[in-house]
Parts: sequence; C-alpha cells; structure tokens
Amino acid sequence: MNLVRTLDRDEARPLNQLSGLPADVWERLKQLLLGGILALVLFLLSVLDPVDQLSWIFQSRIAEHDPSGDIVFVGTERDMADPNLPYRRVELANALRKLDEQGVGRVYLDIPFPEHSSVDADQRLAEAIGALGPRAIIVDKIERTGSSNDRVITTMPGIAGDAKRVVSRQASNWLGFSWTREFTNVVDGQRLPSLAASMAGIEDMREGSFQIDYAINSQEIAALDLAEINSGTSGVELAGRTVIIGEDAGLSETQQRVPGNYSVPDSFVAIYGAETLKAGRTGFLNALLALAVFISVFAALVMVARSRKRRRIGYAIIIASLPLGLFAGSLVGFRAELSYCAATLVAYAMLRSRTRWKNRMALVDNETGLPKLRALELNTSQDIHIRGHFVVARIHGYEHVFKTLPRVERAQYILKLVDRLRATDAALTIYSEGHHLAWHAKEEDGERLAEHLEGLRAMFAAPVNVAGSSIDVGISFGVAKLDGDPAARLAAAVAAAEESSEALQPIKIAESSSRFDELWDLSLRARIDEAMAAGEIFCVYQPKFDTRNGTMTGVEALVRWQDPARGFIPPMHFIAQCEKAGRMEALTEFVFEHACAAGRLMHFSGQTISMSINISATLLADMRIVGMVRNILQATGFDPRFLVLEVTETSRIGNLETAETVLNELKALGTRVSMDDFGVGETNFETFFELPFDEVKIDRLFIANMARSQKAKAIVASIVQMGRDARIGVVAEGAEDTETLKLLTEIGCTHVQGYILARPMSLDNLMNFQGFDLKNALKV
Ligand code: C2E
Ligand code: MG
Ligand code: MG
Repeated sequence: MNLVRTLDRDEARPLNQLSGLPADVWERLKQLLLGGILALVLFLLSVLDPVDQLSWIFQSRIAEHDPSGDIVFVGTERDMADPNLPYRRVELANALRKLDEQGVGRVYLDIPFPEHSSVDADQRLAEAIGALGPRAIIVDKIERTGSSNDRVITTMPGIAGDAKRVVSRQASNWLGFSWTREFTNVVDGQRLPSLAASMAGIEDMREGSFQIDYAINSQEIAALDLAEINSGTSGVELAGRTVIIGEDAGLSETQQRVPGNYSVPDSFVAIYGAETLKAGRTGFLNALLALAVFISVFAALVMVARSRKRRRIGYAIIIASLPLGLFAGSLVGFRAELSYCAATLVAYAMLRSRTRWKNRMALVDNETGLPKLRALELNTSQDIHIRGHFVVARIHGYEHVFKTLPRVERAQYILKLVDRLRATDAALTIYSEGHHLAWHAKEEDGERLAEHLEGLRAMFAAPVNVAGSSIDVGISFGVAKLDGDPAARLAAAVAAAEESSEALQPIKIAESSSRFDELWDLSLRARIDEAMAAGEIFCVYQPKFDTRNGTMTGVEALVRWQDPARGFIPPMHFIAQCEKAGRMEALTEFVFEHACAAGRLMHFSGQTISMSINISATLLADMRIVGMVRNILQATGFDPRFLVLEVTETSRIGNLETAETVLNELKALGTRVSMDDFGVGETNFETFFELPFDEVKIDRLFIANMARSQKAKAIVASIVQMGRDARIGVVAEGAEDTETLKLLTEIGCTHVQGYILARPMSLDNLMNFQGFDLKNALKV
C-alpha cells in the first residue's frame, strides 16, 4: 500500500501557528507583502514614474479618437505682443473683427499683452475685444520661472476691458509632458477657471485637477493661421465655434511636448484638456489605490487557489490583466499608475524563484553537483506506477579517501565513480550523498539486476586515477524492490547497503515491502501520542446538508495525521495502527475533545448544527466509552442533543447485548447514534435490528455508483425507503456530482454529505463557510 498520498485541496497541510493558514500559503502571503513593501518604497522615491508615463504614452498611441471639433486653433508664428511692433496688435484686432463678422462662438486670446504699445494700436485691439462682448475671453498665463514663485503675465486692463478672464498654467513635468490640468487657478488672490475647463464649459470653480487624455488625434484638431483669418482664405466655418488664438509651435518657448508629437503649440495642451473634459475621459487610479487593489486580489488568489495549476492560471490572469487594463483604459479614457503593481509582481516572482531555487539546492549535493537521495525519493514518489528497484552503492574507505584528498579532487573522485556506474547506461541519473550513490534501476527481475551489479563490481576492481594518484575502490550494493512506499523502499535500500559487506555479501537485497511497512507501522504506533501532542494529528470537519433548502444541518469530524517526514497518512491506515497499539481510546478521546469544543464554538457563533463523531465498534465492548463521553460533554459544555455517534465497522461488534447496553447508556446522555457505512463489509441486518440506531449512513460505494449503476441506485432507494418505514434518519455520503445529487433528491434522500457540497475543512474554514449554492449544485 502506498502510505503517502497527495492531499485533497485544503483538507490538511501543516498549518502556520501564527496565522492558522497552511505554511506554504503563509509563505506566499509574506513574500507578496514584502513585494508590496518594496513597491511602496519605490513609490515614495517616485522611481517608477517614468515607467507609468511610458505606459500612458503607449496608451495614447493605441487608441485614437476624434476631438469634438468645436474648438479651432488659430496660430501665429510671430510675437504678437511685442510692444515695439504696434502693427501686429492692429493685425490681431482686424482678425478679431473678422471672427466677429463670421459669428464666432467664443474667442480665447491665449496671448497676454502686459505692456503698452502705441496708443492707437492698443485702442484698436481693446475695441475689437470690446466688440466681441462676452464672447471674448482673455487668458492670463502662469509661467514657470524655475524659482519657487511662478510668474503671472496678465493682459493690461486698458486692452482687456471687462472681458472675462481665465488662466493657463504651464505645468509640464521633467520629461516634458503635461499629464494633468487644474480646473481653476488662483491669480492675485482671485480664483479663476482654467483655460481648458472654461473651453469645456466647466466654470463652477471646482478645485482639483484632472488627467488629460492624449488619445486624440492632433491632426484632427482644426488649426488655422492668423493670416488666413485676415485674408478670409481659411475656408473653415467658424460660426458658433470656439476659437483659441495662440502662438505657434515655431516660437521656441511656447512649444510643448505631447505623446506622439514632439512639438505642438502650448495652447494645444489646453485644447486636449478641454476635449478630455467634454468626452468625460478623465478616469484615474493612482498608484497607492492600484497597489492596494492589486495586493488584495493577489492575496485572495494565493489563499483560494491551493493547487499549483490553479495558481498558475491565476498568475497568468493577473499578469495579463496589467497590459489588458492599459488597453481597456485607453479605450474608455482611463489612466492608472500600474508600474508599482508590476514591481510587486516582479519582486514576488523573484522571491518565489529564490525559494524554489533554495528548495532545489537542498536537493543537490554541493560538492559534486549531483542530486541528493532525497531528490530520488521525491522524483519517484510522484509516480504511482513506478516499478523496478532502488540500488544504493556504498563506497568503502570513503572517509579515508576524503581525509587525504583536497576538496576539488574529492568531487572528481566521486564523479569518476559515477562514470563507471554509468558504463552501460550513459543517461542514468545517479544521486549522491555521503558515501552513497543511488539510482532507480528499471530492471524488475531481481536476479538479472544482481548479475548486472556483479558486472559493475568487476569494473571497480581497477583503481581510479585522481590528480595523478591511483586510488583503490571498494564498492557494495543495497537493493530494494519498488513494491511499496518509495520513501520507505529507498530507506530500505540504504539500510541494506549499510549491511552489505565487500567480502561476505556485496549485494544485499532488502526485505520485501510488507516486512518493511510493518517496521514502519511499528514506528507509527510508537509515535501516536507524540503526534497528538504536537498537533500533527488534528480534526477536519465535513458539512452535511439538507438539500431541500440547502442548510447545513451538521458536520462530521474526521481525523487527520500529517506527518512532517511522511506526509499525509490516511485515517484508515493509522486508525488500524492505533488499534494494534491499544491507543484507540486515546485517539477517540482526542477527537471527542476537539470536536465537542468545535461544536460548542459553532453553537456559540449562532450555528446550531449537529456534530457527528466516528467511534469504532470495538469500543462498544465495555462501559468506558460512556464515562469518557459524559466527561467530555461536561468539560466542553456541548449540548448532547446535537452529538451524533457514528459507529463504524459494526461487523466487529463481538457481543450484541453488551453493545446494546452501551449504546443505550450513550443515548441516555442525550446523544444520537448512527450506523456508518451501511451496506458494505459485513454490516448486517441483525446488527441494525438489534441495536437502537437513530440513523443509517449509506456507504459511499453505492452513492458514488448511483449515476452509473441501476443496481446501486436500487440499493440506495431501498435503504431510503427502509429508513422511512423504520422511522430512522438516512444520510447519503460521498455524493461527488450533480447527477448523483439529483438522483438522491428524486429518491427522497435529503440528507447528503459529499465533495459536491463541501469537502472536509479546518475549523477556521468551517466558521467562515458560507454554504453551497443549491441551485448551482442541482443545476436547476
Ligand atoms: P466515514 O466515517 O465513512 O467518513 C466518510 C469518509 O468519506 C471520509 O473519508 C470523507 O472524507 C469521505 N468522503 C466524504 N464525501 C466524499 C465524496 O464525495 N467522495 C469521496 N471519495 N469521499 C468522500 P476519510 O476522512 O478518509 O475517513 C475514512 C474513514 O476513517 C471514515 O469513514 C471513518 O471510518 C474513519 N475515521 C475518520 N475519522 C475517524 C475518527 O475520528 N475515529 C474513528 N474511529 N474513525 C475515523
Ligand atoms: Mg463516519
Ligand atoms: Mg461512512
């Protein structure tokens, strides 16, 4: 029998004392947290800002959409405000008049005039502005000066008259981009709308800023030259539209960098801003929030996805979600600072691979670079079909050789031996540890293997040459057939190698597995009490449901043994060992104590469910069990009406009369009794008839086969009918799929336990267990 089994999902793994989580989950969470902290530090140093900006540039390029078309840019390539060139102001005044004539909607003058020019020119400009009335809007500029104080450049009142004012603030960052704009700015103590907000029609003086979306095609923004307005050759319909007059990108100070375009007029940033606001494309997720969401989702994944496959799927989804998020964001106009999430991911991946590397290193011999024996055990324990033999070669005189050879040459020595062992099979993987070299021989025939090993021994008659000196080699072998738990078999081969001797028994065959398992079982029996004390033995709880309404009516306590060295030991196996060791009572007491305390806790938290505990029929031979149950009920304060005793292995009841007395005493305490595994083994109707059971549990052999076998279905139906007639409860256990659940419902069996509904789980998980989706389980 293979004693090491892989675990059912979260049923039983070594738990971390502090958190109560499985140790590997806890480790992953810690590494995730570490990755998050690292990302936070990077965030505080703003190290990854350029990465985010790159991603935004990328976003701006992948999805382009058209501007509203309301806004027209009119550019000029000359400095219109130069006080020494009054004719330019006249030219501008003429252009404003032309715009007025064409019935323009609004005109934003994005060029400030802080100085006087000629009286006549100033007056002409002032008149042209005045003629436009409320449609003319003057833009004041806040310029970055490099020092802490920004410089405000405003148009003198003599020109602006009482035209409305808005503000434009240059705010490109060190990479030359302008990602945000304010809704309002304060100039001389007065809060004014920003140019962008005003053009978008937002003038409610709200504070704060918004993200500018650059996914607008700049070629689609209508742009004219001032001269075209004056000459009337623009050909662009301006009636009702918003015009912004500003300096062209040719004037060096005013050019601005936007994604996809290295120099656009400064006014364009305001146009992009206004178009963004008009289209409502201002969604933003900042780095901290993104990080918090990311880490929460990631942590949930780590906690929920307990198998490697699921985790990998989860990781793939999370990794893909970052670029997909960027892409989706560009479509709907949403920007996020995701670089710190990516940093967390990278840090986590690095920490994980370091852990994996460390684990792998623990399996590799430092000196020779060969895998260790433990690796052989792991590699073979995963393959249940593995056959053949383990061979362990013992090198004699190894300690002496090691004492005399320098470090590098030791490895050479071992590797030379390995070469010889591989003489007939160059691809053979050899594992090494200390003075042992081991491998898995596929040869199933023991005699032929022994012949082969004899041949190998002959090859070792010649000394090996290391660093100029020749060394004699003595070698002998221990062999174990792979007919049981690989770990146990490897240990047997090692033990045999140790017992082998060059002179007397150079090839020693280990005892067969049954003998070895027996030895192992002996050690198991000796360790029961220790394992209970160390928490290696513990209880899990599997819910039972009333499928009519989906309520959890009770749970069954199932005992588990997770051995640090051997892994999970199936209950059926160690319970048998407990019995042999005379520790059945102690184990039952242990389970009762934990399960009753757990039941009390559930009641305390408002879940009045029943607690089923398995008792072996062998314990019904005398009254000790009654005293034990009474004491535990008293000590834990658990209400006995909710305690169900599932009697297992009823065929082993020696004396029905005694068993009846014991069961009646147990029932007198207030508990109910159930006949477990009904229908299999040698459970018989006499037992059922003679003993005062309140419930039968139909064995999962029948339930599992119901969907396939008409016979199984008929047996279940008849047990259910029998229970109904005899007025005792019937529980079906081992329902694994929807089909079975439906059949049970049809038959009228409503109390069901099985993997389809819930697996055995830790008390913690049980307390948080939300039940199952009845509709989904039945797919109705
Ligand atoms: P049982 O009392 O019949 O317990 C039900 C067994 O069926 C459990 O196996 C449970 O995990 C499994 N099971 C439940 N639903 C499904 C399903 O849908 N599909 C499949 N394949 N299996 C399902 P487990 O935990 O391995 O226990 C095996 C047996 O060990 C129990 O059978 C019981 O006889 C014994 N046992 C477990 N705990 C105790 C204990 O504390 N005391 C005693 N005396 N025996 C125990
Ligand atoms: Mg049971
Ligand atoms: Mg059962």
